[in-house]
Amino acid sequence: MAYQTISPYTNETIKTYDFSDQADIEKALSTGHELYKKWRNGPLDQRIDILHKIASLFREREDELATIAVKDMGKLFKEAKGEVELCALIADYFADHGAEMLKPTTLKTIATGEAEVLKHSTGVIFAVEPWNFPYYQIMRVFAPNFIVGNPMVLKGPSNTPGSSDVFGKIVLEAGAPEGSFTNLFLNYDQASAIVADPRVQGVALTGSERGGRAIAKAAGENLKKNTMELGGTDAFIVLDDTDIDQVADIAWRTRLYNAGQVCTSSKRFIVADSLYDEFLTRLKDKFAAVKAGDPMDASTTLAPMNSKRAKEKLQQQVDDAIKAGATLYYGNEPIDLPGQFFQPTILTDISKGNPAYSTEMFGPVASVYKVHSDQEAIDLANDSHYGLGGIVFSGDPDRGAKVASQIETGMVFVNNFMSSLPELPFGGVKASGYGREMSQLGIMAFVNEELIVKAQKPDLSNPAGGLVAL
Ligand code: NAP
Repeated sequence: MAYQTISPYTNETIKTYDFSDQADIEKALSTGHELYKKWRNGPLDQRIDILHKIASLFREREDELATIAVKDMGKLFKEAKGEVELCALIADYFADHGAEMLKPTTLKTIATGEAEVLKHSTGVIFAVEPWNFPYYQIMRVFAPNFIVGNPMVLKGPSNTPGSSDVFGKIVLEAGAPEGSFTNLFLNYDQASAIVADPRVQGVALTGSERGGRAIAKAAGENLKKNTMELGGTDAFIVLDDTDIDQVADIAWRTRLYNAGQVCTSSKRFIVADSLYDEFLTRLKDKFAAVKAGDPMDASTTLAPMNSKRAKEKLQQQVDDAIKAGATLYYGNEPIDLPGQFFQPTILTDISKGNPAYSTEMFGPVASVYKVHSDQEAIDLANDSHYGLGGIVFSGDPDRGAKVASQIETGMVFVNNFMSSLPELPFGGVKASGYGREMSQLGIMAFVNEELIVKAQKPDLSNPAGGLVAL
């Protein structure tokens, strides 16, 4: 697909970008590889300063960056500003803590000598990223790997090229050497060829299950370590002792933030029978109160979806769900604006055979289920081939946490929104992917943990029988 900014609010094609050619790819890989060799055994100090500078530039240029993201994919300006600030937080976090995280660890061993594990960079990382958070998704991979010393080549999404482009410019403006981060506009064949290139030592993809399977297959065939951050149908469980006022004020936000286009949006609300009717009424009232309009306008609370294609796909999913027996509780009416708006919609009575039961709906559509016990809520939450995030609400946070621990998923928040923060690991299980980004776990994704055992002289008398050949 062409790399184009098409405003989902005005439908205007703002800019089209040329595809990268073979020379661009070769330059990105060769400068990246040379830099890796230079960085591998060198000091970190300069990269720490540069990463802080990147954070400062994100903050200084917040409005400009947010405006670019709004033009690219239509999100609310205030939400785009929040994303830019989060990028700055991530950059600062890895600049502040990365060196500590990468210190060698000493192991206790019966082997003769001192054993330690060094944390080395491994080479160029190829990242394939989606459009829904056009800066944050890139920063999640870039910041930790920059500190590790892994240069990054990016294949950004075809519909947010302006954001990927300016990200690269900021990295260079902050003083990062050429090859630290190269944004390329690639087709899928070029992307597969980069995965196969021997200079690339890691592959990180965030995106759909379909995109993940394609890139994971290429990575597997080429024995490249990879992380997959894929889709989800996250459950939002409301236990019977929940304060309805509290939950009502949060539930709608967890579905409509970013026009519902978040991997960890709450997509399935699983509600105790005693609160079900009241919950539905409150959710409908909140959904009905949003104001669609210009995403740059501070009074707008519902942004358009990112593209015509995305809106049409969601419409098809809702139509199919209703055809298969779901009840349309609220919404699904056209919005009289030229942009790609989708009215917040609530579906109920979704049976197990309904496609809406198991597929991800990546937009402002809530599926609401009634359950009669905590166990039924857990079983329903787990009856999904995805397992990314989740939320549990309860009047008793310990009861909520007990339920949370029984959900087969990568992350659960009790009595609050899910938030992504640099110190918290991010990632899922099942078809939501594998590996973690951010935090101590994330920084290790593409690190070579090299064991060094240092003895004064050979000694064959260890209790394992002096095994030397294994
Ligand atoms: P997508 O279609 O998979 O696209 C994501 C990226 O992968 C884009 O750069 C896309 O390029 C590229 N891509 C897709 N297929 C490819 C292939 N065969 N070869 C090479 N590159 C390929 O996903 P999306 O629809 O844009 O994003 C929404 C999905 O991402 C949702 O399922 C959402 O839940 C998931 N997501 C997950 C996380 C997480 O952290 N787990 C975070 C955000 C979003 P083009 O743009 O050129 O097609």
